Amino acid sequence: MKGTWSFGRSIAVKCMVFCLAAIACFALAPASRAADGTGAFLRIGLAYGAGAPASCEIASANGFILAVPEGDGYREGMPLPAYTKLTVSASGGRTLLHADGVLVSDDIGTGTCVLPYAYASGARISYEGVAYRGGLSFRPNIGNTFNVINRISIEEYLYGVVNSEMGYKNPAEALKAQAVAARSYAWVKRGAHADDGFDMCTGSHCQVYKGPSDEHDEVIAAVDATAGLMLYRGDAPVSGNYFKNSGGHTQNSEDVWGSAEPYLRGVLDEYSPPYAWERQFSFRELRTLLLAAGEDPGEIALVSVGARNADGSVSTLTIIGDRGTVSLEKNRIRTVLGASNVKSLRFSLGTAAPDLPRAPEIFAVGADGAGSLAGDAFVLSADATGAFAAEDAFLLGAAESVRASALLGAPGGGAQPKDEPATGGFVTFTGNGYGHGVGMPQDSAIEMAKQGHDFRQILAKYFTGVQIR
Ligand SMILES: [Zn+2]
Repeated sequence: MKGTWSFGRSIAVKCMVFCLAAIACFALAPASRAADGTGAFLRIGLAYGAGAPASCEIASANGFILAVPEGDGYREGMPLPAYTKLTVSASGGRTLLHADGVLVSDDIGTGTCVLPYAYASGARISYEGVAYRGGLSFRPNIGNTFNVINRISIEEYLYGVVNSEMGYKNPAEALKAQAVAARSYAWVKRGAHADDGFDMCTGSHCQVYKGPSDEHDEVIAAVDATAGLMLYRGDAPVSGNYFKNSGGHTQNSEDVWGSAEPYLRGVLDEYSPPYAWERQFSFRELRTLLLAAGEDPGEIALVSVGARNADGSVSTLTIIGDRGTVSLEKNRIRTVLGASNVKSLRFSLGTAAPDLPRAPEIFAVGADGAGSLAGDAFVLSADATGAFAAEDAFLLGAAESVRASALLGAPGGGAQPKDEPATGGFVTFTGNGYGHGVGMPQDSAIEMAKQGHDFRQILAKYFTGVQIR
């Protein structure tokens, strides 16, 4: 981040108007060292990419002050206590600042932070009507837009994160474990959006952050009680990965993402509440999802589990079509098929019929086309009785087709959660758990806290061999 001022010529005019010709520049006494995470600052991207504005209004009830981040604090610059609203706009690769239509700066610079005037006593600054702690900075983009970035201490950031990620009504020790995990995650992941000029986005890609509107006393207490605490392996902080529900066993990092981290080991999880899920796909839907990911097995004929890890989770999903075989490995199974469709890698495959089409939508056709069934054919009734004698007969619903033999294998359309290769035009995933499976399962952290374990015990259970300090 650039640490220099780049205010324009109009500053002097404005400063005389408000008798503030002297720009105070001094370093604030650092409240604490950044080395342990306490007092470290994060840059949170509030608007960027397609959401980057060409102009915006920012507000502060008691005025503003411009400053340059320095160490754990700020080097204060021009005070603007008389304004409650400023307009930020982009022009020719620069970001302009106006107050009441008067130019305050013709190039505010990426390194400058606009703070609420009373920032030291906790005043908030608003962007798009949403109040934030800390300050705002602006990074010009090509095309006369700019990114809006909230510069905030990591502790204040956590105030606005933990409720979205866990829920403030959960037990205090679980909230503390979540705070330490989220702090470690943010610390290690900061810079994830460096190309856009900030550290973390506000979505689940990084950690969900909604600012002070999402703060709760219970969360603030948990963050304060664990201030600065992170997970360490040796001298280095390590990422506190977490997810919702383990389904009974967490995952080795290499079984999900690729690289083996010694502290991210799959562990038997006796604290996991059950989280059962089921999702049926037609082969047509599967192929659509594969095509979107750049894979095309052709007309799908078979879906099967190719391999499992020692703990039973699926490591390879094999899809065979008339143009070839596609193998989805590890977490790619979930990213390609949809992380909310295939909620975890702890699943079984089954063959299942779709909900049986109602009679008016059923057409019986032979292999050579409509209307010529060889031999005796029976259409399954609503109670799944009857049988197809013609081996090559298909049932055509309004949108899908399924081989009659598949329907025979699953009377009534029920799922059979065994690893039989699915060949009948449909496949059912039946699983347990929700999330990538690496690190701390939040549901288990909550359960451990309910059973009287403290946040250190919770973290030690799911992060193998880490120190918490
Ligand atoms: Zn992100």
